[in-house]
Amino acid sequence: MESSSPLEVLKRRFGFDAFRPLQEEIVANTLARRDSLVLMPTGGGKSICYQLPALLLDGVTLVVSPLIALMKDQTDALNANGIAARFINSSLQPQEMAEVRAQLDRGEVKILYVAPERLAMDGFRRLLQRLHISLIAIDEAHCISEWGHEFRPDYRNLRQLRQEFPSVPVMALTATATKRVRDDIVAQLDLQQGAVFLSSFNRENLNYSVRPKRDAFGELVSLVRGRRDQSTIVYCYSRRETEELASDLNAQGLRALPYHAGLDVETRRRAQDDFIHDRVPIIVATIAFGMGIDKPDIRLVVHYSMPRSLEGYYQETGRAGRDGLPSDCVLFFTLADKARQEFFIKQIDDASEQQQAHGRLAAMVEFARLQTCRRRSLLAYFGEQFGSDNCGACDNCLGSSLSGREEFDATEIAQKVLSAVVRTGERFGATHIIRVLTGSRDRRILAFGHDRLSVYGIARDYDRTALREIMEQLEARGLLVQGGGDYATLALGPKGRQFLRGRERISLLRPEGKAAAPRTASGPGRELEYHRGLFERLRDLRRGLADVRGVPAFVVFGDVSLRHMAAALPRSMAEFSRIPGVGETKLAEYGPEFVEVIRSYSEANGLQRRTDPAAGQQAAFPDGPTEKARRLPRAAVIDETREMLRRGLSVSEMAQQRGLAESTIVGQIERLVDQGISLEVEHLLPSAETVQEIREAFHVCGDAYLRPVWEFLGSHVSYNDLRLVRMHFRQQGRSAEG
Ligand code: ADP
Ligand code: MG
Ligand code: ZN
Repeated sequence: MESSSPLEVLKRRFGFDAFRPLQEEIVANTLARRDSLVLMPTGGGKSICYQLPALLLDGVTLVVSPLIALMKDQTDALNANGIAARFINSSLQPQEMAEVRAQLDRGEVKILYVAPERLAMDGFRRLLQRLHISLIAIDEAHCISEWGHEFRPDYRNLRQLRQEFPSVPVMALTATATKRVRDDIVAQLDLQQGAVFLSSFNRENLNYSVRPKRDAFGELVSLVRGRRDQSTIVYCYSRRETEELASDLNAQGLRALPYHAGLDVETRRRAQDDFIHDRVPIIVATIAFGMGIDKPDIRLVVHYSMPRSLEGYYQETGRAGRDGLPSDCVLFFTLADKARQEFFIKQIDDASEQQQAHGRLAAMVEFARLQTCRRRSLLAYFGEQFGSDNCGACDNCLGSSLSGREEFDATEIAQKVLSAVVRTGERFGATHIIRVLTGSRDRRILAFGHDRLSVYGIARDYDRTALREIMEQLEARGLLVQGGGDYATLALGPKGRQFLRGRERISLLRPEGKAAAPRTASGPGRELEYHRGLFERLRDLRRGLADVRGVPAFVVFGDVSLRHMAAALPRSMAEFSRIPGVGETKLAEYGPEFVEVIRSYSEANGLQRRTDPAAGQQAAFPDGPTEKARRLPRAAVIDETREMLRRGLSVSEMAQQRGLAESTIVGQIERLVDQGISLEVEHLLPSAETVQEIREAFHVCGDAYLRPVWEFLGSHVSYNDLRLVRMHFRQQGRSAEG
């Protein structure tokens, strides 16, 4: 139990500076041991509402959730913030279960996630009776209602739970937007009066648009091309359609997996896992996909065919942008899809049900054909009034370019790109040109002396993806053409020469699908100016750290945190601690590595801060006059590490001396070895027998990902040992190659 104020705990544990709307009131209501019904949209921040009181109350908070597949990620995320959370569900092995029980008995657990079916088991009931339960949180509470689309009979067990713990406050949470279901939750759970917290259901960071379904595939391809590596869900009408579309996308070089209820459990689990761990960016699914997904950084949700109701549409699009960053929702509409839905509605026997289904479909079709603000209409459907006629983030409010993408004056960037092509002699491909423009230190750039050209590094404010997209558009307009020869080289077309000579202006579609029109609210949809190149570098670092720990990347840091880092360029642990999402535990665990990477990258590329790290959030200063980046003590870190290794210190001794976590030390050594620096690591290895065992496991599973290796070894070898042995082999391999 923590003895500070809720706001202090919010900062210390979760790294957030302020509460989102209603969170503070809900926490206070709970600390006063009263019930609450929390109605917030997806991404509204419901979890904090029970996680924070859990830390402030004596005892264990019980969280009931139907999403077994999610429990591990949720508890991993809490553990990453130094919070003792565990789960009990059917996926646990008997000995894991025994361990959780023992931890509960020792009072070492603050938050326990369970599936509703557990509540009916005698053994579990006896366990609960022994514990001191501080709060019962019921996530996805709409599952208790038969009126909802996800009724779970097991949720009825909750009534009895409530009776067995009459004095424990209950918090029911849901993103369900319909009133009937809400009322039913209150009745079923017998919640106290007056404790309903209803927030706005407007998702201000989501950009809605509807496209006529003509060349849907072509448009889909260009939508996802512009956002390589960003997570996307494409919803289809039928199982067959998901399979076909996924394979068509793959044929275009876009990695996509199908997902539908007809696939076997293992295949589905793997698809979901690959998506969550960013190994596959696109999932093509029927509506069977999504309920078990809490991925915060889905940037695009496409409805390849129209859903059968606005409830479904709102829920499915709602999976985009949980982290509050701008994300797009695109619906392809054709009357043929309406006819397909009607065909099925005709098969419904019950007359009143049939009529309701017709009504829902009609509302959906009306929405698709709307000429006015879609956000306003969507919210009105759920009984909420949106304050303005122009939301600034739907196709009808923005003008109808693809997915709200507007054109921008690209004269300057086009001149830079074309000049770079000319200055390098029209003999290179897009990748090389992009390296020149972004000031890369790549070997080939240096070998050709291209770092001495006047165009070197002149487009650093664009990232690689954006530049590639701009070049594709220039090619489509005939300003750039493919050169002859075996290699994909680029040259100027006649139009390109004319453009450079003629000083005319040019407009292109803004890359990356971001709507740059001002958003009405100054909330989370607001764009932060950050350095794209550094952001990508930090994403790599994050991925490495997450793989090693066997958790999804967002458990380490969300995109919001990385963007703030890439804007504020924190140079010290103190500055790093002010980045949103950096609590005490993550500061200690990840701070040194991130600060080091940020410092070295900023120095190598001459980056300027885009925000004041003290202010944390605001996008403030534009690039000022060059302030000489401070020299980073990278060399000193390497020397120190080398010296410690030479003295034969163990990982835990090094960790102690430096005040860092062991995994951070191993991570630093790993990174140095990866960069080709040889270090003496033999004395850090586990016993020869274990090394041999790990060697065999690498042989079977490969060594790119450690999770499968760890599982292969029956989890009795630590991740740190796996990493150390892997780097030892890699060093050996290197010296063998000479
Ligand atoms: P929900 O369960 O309502 O869909 P979550 O609890 O998963 O939403 O939170 C959505 C996102 O918002 C998460 O990435 C979370 O870290 C972030 N978040 C929640 N509360 C805050 C806050 N007070 N400040 C900043 N970010 C927050
Ligand atoms: Mg939630
Ligand atoms: Zn609008």
